[in-house]
Amino acid sequence: MHPFDFKMLPWNVVFGAGSLASLPARMDELGLERALVLSTPEQRGDAERVARLLGARAAGLFSAARMHVPVEVARAAEETARACDAACTVAIGGGSTTGLGKALALHADLPLVAIPTTYAGSEMTNIWGLTEDGRKRTGRSLAVLPRLTIYDAQLSLGLPPAIAGPSALNALAQAIVNAYDRRTNPVLMNIALEAIAAIAQALPTVMAAPRDLEARERLLFGAALAGATLGAGVTSLHHRLCHTLGGSCNTPHAETHAVLLPYTMAFNAPAVPDLMARIAAALGCADAAAGIHDFSTRLGLPTSLTMLGIGADDLPRIAALATESAVVNPREVTREGVLELLHKAWRGARPE
Ligand code: NAD
Repeated sequence: MHPFDFKMLPWNVVFGAGSLASLPARMDELGLERALVLSTPEQRGDAERVARLLGARAAGLFSAARMHVPVEVARAAEETARACDAACTVAIGGGSTTGLGKALALHADLPLVAIPTTYAGSEMTNIWGLTEDGRKRTGRSLAVLPRLTIYDAQLSLGLPPAIAGPSALNALAQAIVNAYDRRTNPVLMNIALEAIAAIAQALPTVMAAPRDLEARERLLFGAALAGATLGAGVTSLHHRLCHTLGGSCNTPHAETHAVLLPYTMAFNAPAVPDLMARIAAALGCADAAAGIHDFSTRLGLPTSLTMLGIGADDLPRIAALATESAVVNPREVTREGVLELLHKAWRGARPE
């Protein structure tokens, strides 16, 4: 065997349908009190439910979380936290809401409890992001890792397939990137393969029957594992391109992952054919990149950059921005190589 280093993050996860009910007791165990409950405007009802459950442990509500954590939203939340003398936050929602909780953990020293209701996986990572003047800064810090994460699949039963599908592809991308990178240690690589298999099995059922609790649980499990691989593992060209597109063209986060994934995989495949074969086996198909393209097509997910409103004229600028600084990736990255990849993703043809 190859020698390897193995280091995990200090996760504290409770997983199970109905486990939201244990939130007050779990917070008491951790000595967490006076929570500011965070959500998006759309999930205000969920936040109110959590506040009712917390009773006197709830200090207030802030329901204005938005995608990519705009700095003005983070400042407004911080003011609300100060005004109600909050001592921690409880974030119920997707990556946008967890991201706001992370900003408050980093800048206001408020420990975070995460209750994820999508498949973004942010709660399993030490990665934070903050957007100011149209630029998103990201970094890693242990301070933003939730003190507690409660995965309760019942909370995801109402997540519409149009959000669930791309969100699950975002999770799949986290696991796949780690499964084809030789920097990933073998323990994490096996977690990544398990995540890939769980998501590939459960997502079609969730799309066809959104209220199937067993499939929702399996998908949430896969997403949690995928998030763990992003948290303890690596990112590469795939994430660089998603961030470049999101930052410069404002494409939606999860959909951008869904569209680019088969093409970043096909780009890397010649450098890591053995690892791609393991991914294909986990997906249950012959070729990993083409298999992901077929999977997205079958599920009716976006499969081309044209579907995200990108023009062919935009591609050279995106390729230049994405290659401004070096990126560690299984296959060497050049501007020409990235431009070719982007043209393929723009057309959306099945990767060969
Ligand atoms: P999101 O959090 O923006 O949620 C999308 C919409 O779905 C929101 O309106 C939300 O309120 C709603 N929603 C969520 N759960 C629901 C449910 N169960 N029922 C009904 N509606 C529900 O989207 P997302 O894809 O979860 O997160 C994207 C954001 O997360 C991006 O900003 C991305 O950069 C970030 N992210 C960060 C990390 C990290 O490690 N830091 C990882 C993944 C994603």
